[in-house]
Amino acid sequence: MCYKFAVPKPPANPLDVPLARLRGVGSERAAQLARLKLCTVGDLLFHRPRRYEDRRHVRPVADLRLGEAATARGKIVALGVKRWRHGNRSVFEFILDDGTARLHCRWWDLPFMEKYFQQGDEVLAYGKLVSLKPRTIDHPETEIVEAGEENFLHLNRIVPIYPSTEGVSQRWLRTLVWRALADYEGRIPDPVQKLVGSRPPGSISDAQAAQPSWAAGSPGIRARGPLAVGLPPELAAQDACATSAKAVHLLHFPGEIPEAELARRRLALDEFFELQLEMQRRRKNLRENARGLPCAGDNHLIKPFLKQLRFVLTDAQTKVLREIRRDLGGAQPMRRLLQGDVGAGKTVVAACAALMTVEGGFNVALMTPTEIVAEQHFQTFAGWFGPLGVEVELRTANRKTSHLAPRTSHLAPRNRLFVGTHALIESAFAPDSLGLVIIDEQHKFGVAQRERLVRKGCYPHLLVMTATPIPRTLGLTLYGDLDISVIDRLPAGRGPVKTFLRAADKLPKVFEFIRGKLDQGRQAYIVYPRVEEADRNELKAVAREWERLQKEFAPYQVGLLHGRLKPEEKQRVMADFRANRTHVLVATSVIEVGVDVPNATVMLIENAEQFGLAQVHQLRGRIGRGAHESWCILVADIKTAEARRRLKVLEQTSDGFRIAEEDLKLRGPGEFLGRQQSGLPPFRFGDLSRDRDLVEHARRLAADLVS
Ligand code: ADP
Ligand code: MG
Repeated sequence: MCYKFAVPKPPANPLDVPLARLRGVGSERAAQLARLKLCTVGDLLFHRPRRYEDRRHVRPVADLRLGEAATARGKIVALGVKRWRHGNRSVFEFILDDGTARLHCRWWDLPFMEKYFQQGDEVLAYGKLVSLKPRTIDHPETEIVEAGEENFLHLNRIVPIYPSTEGVSQRWLRTLVWRALADYEGRIPDPVQKLVGSRPPGSISDAQAAQPSWAAGSPGIRARGPLAVGLPPELAAQDACATSAKAVHLLHFPGEIPEAELARRRLALDEFFELQLEMQRRRKNLRENARGLPCAGDNHLIKPFLKQLRFVLTDAQTKVLREIRRDLGGAQPMRRLLQGDVGAGKTVVAACAALMTVEGGFNVALMTPTEIVAEQHFQTFAGWFGPLGVEVELRTANRKTSHLAPRTSHLAPRNRLFVGTHALIESAFAPDSLGLVIIDEQHKFGVAQRERLVRKGCYPHLLVMTATPIPRTLGLTLYGDLDISVIDRLPAGRGPVKTFLRAADKLPKVFEFIRGKLDQGRQAYIVYPRVEEADRNELKAVAREWERLQKEFAPYQVGLLHGRLKPEEKQRVMADFRANRTHVLVATSVIEVGVDVPNATVMLIENAEQFGLAQVHQLRGRIGRGAHESWCILVADIKTAEARRRLKVLEQTSDGFRIAEEDLKLRGPGEFLGRQQSGLPPFRFGDLSRDRDLVEHARRLAADLVS
């Protein structure tokens, strides 16, 4: 194997000390902490408080206001459990008196709470008042104030409240963090300072500190020398964030609540920086150790290919192909991300890249996220490449046999295009002279999977195609090691897609509308939210809908497609739809990626509120592929104004980037990227939807360092 990283292993982390070694942590405690994913001293020190409480100004009970979260403190003057015979309900309540008024704290149906409290206990209670007469908080968070020398940790300061678990009290956890800090603070590594330089904190010039963060590292500043990119000014200005250790301290002991946010940002920067550093090192390693295979080709296949294509490439496609060709003929292996909104025409670009490689005398592998897409690409490519004498072979988990496109020319080299799903990354597949790996719809694959496929060859070129427009922050994070090409225009002559949001009671009207389109010779998709393979009930529901829809649309034919079908069945269903033998396709979100049937111009998405925005955008990318006007109808059961506003975005724009940003904001990166392994490391502090500036800063820091 020749794909090796020369990146050195990180040094042993001085914080990798099991928590059981700390005073006061026995095996039982250690097991409880492990449930919080706290196993080492490092885990504990980086345990991020979920909120902070200002206990310098505990609110007098008499001043508590309805609906406003606040902390009160008093003595328990009465307590008890009340039970109802009917309905098996109970309420545990204690009454807190702080001298100004009484506060009722209630817990519904948790009678065992009684055992945690006693009359006379002094208690801090945090929550929102639900009534004034009497003053009541339901299910407050509480902490018993005990006499003890460590009370300065728990009172009269901004106090961190940690994610916790049964049996682990805030008080105990706080004390443990405090002790660990005392012993280990000096050993907390600082990736940024350690690597960027030994410049003492605070030595950044005023002029530089006055720069907005995006300007740090711009050419004018960079000219000062290798250390030009330091911490972002906002962090550099705070001595309390000068090192990671100080930031960790601040995280647990902020002087004011905004300081905790600064600490979070400093630690987020560290996380982003380490990730970027790894990516840049990988790049550098590739640059220095890998030679690109000569795959630029000589046009003898591409020329006839473009001639027989039923359309002309757009300027955007041509521009991207020029970039790809330069890479394929370059000294280093290509590492390129091709972004283009759904329907932008990435497939034909992939085809050209594959042909260049085959012209150069190498094989190509094309990996897709689903079998349906693999099958479809196989059909498309076999149709395109067959006449050129280039063999295309399909490999999926269910079908290892090869399907060869007919060879008509004996002049062509015997190189092949392999099309497949995950099966391609399984070990048996290792074609000779693999020149190019193309990954379609990348966001479904993790970075690790990408690496594994590339390792199949000796530094083959890599082209990653994604249809989900990835917001820039996420792009830099996920693809910091790739160059980026964008197809920024859809092919001309596309009918527009009109999107409408409708309530469920309008379905009959919607069906009538669809029938009208079928009468005009068009086809339609009807999509139901994700029916996971596992869920038999949901599957039944879709099957029932299908029966109903067959009656609804008779005599038109209605097909059914879902993930549980056998591969041959899926192929049959898709083939029928493609050939217009079925007119309506009822489907689960398996059609989300890559399916291409230009005559289908209507898409009805039921329960649209259950999809992410980016996913609906993907789905509706299945229509509007031909010259006809297309219609996407979102039927949703909308209960909140927020859900409505969210789906309205889809009505208003077809700009995939805007939709993706919106989705990222609403759902966070994990959900945005899908349930499957997103390839992203789990950030403790970083927040990709808020910390865009930090990601970019980290990237600059890493680039500066590595070069
Ligand atoms: P995606 O980028 O979503 O993968 P496809 O590659 O599937 O998009 O292309 C969508 C449709 O547009 C296909 O039917 C394809 O044949 C067609 N197409 C691609 N390029 C052009 C072009 N330059 N002019 C017209 N149609 C095109
Ligand atoms: Mg595609």
